[in-house]
Amino acid sequence: MSWETRAANNLLPLSWDKGSLSQALREWRYTGDYHDLEAPSANCELCDHPDIRYQFEIRNLHTAARLLIGSECIHRFGIAATDEEGRTLDTLATRKKVDRDRRQLVEDARRRRLVSALVALANVEPISMFIPL
Ligand SMILES: [Zn+2]
Repeated sequence: MSWETRAANNLLPLSWDKGSLSQALREWRYTGDYHDLEAPSANCELCDHPDIRYQFEIRNLHTAARLLIGSECIHRFGIAATDEEGRTLDTLATRKKVDRDRRQLVEDARRRRLVSALVALANVEPISMFIPL
């Protein structure tokens, strides 16, 4: 099964336009909600691609349905993003927003790793910190 067929199977039942994938895709927006699962443990709910770690939420403008998908699928299927005021962005602005959000996710994950390393370090037996005279 092609990724287009899988996407149609997943998307059309949740869209108004149930006849064509390209029409149905226009009903969906990426609004800037994303999640880090901290491990590649989910499937993309649009194309069924396995091992997704960073989930990007898309919403249907009419049905309020939501799907959690990989950032690549936003680009691949030409799903438009919206800005903070809810205005639809063009292809270039969408790409910039998705790339920026993805960088933010990676950066946040790196910061969390650093903090837990520091916490672990702070919990090291205090006696080992003394310098013998
Ligand atoms: Zn996908």
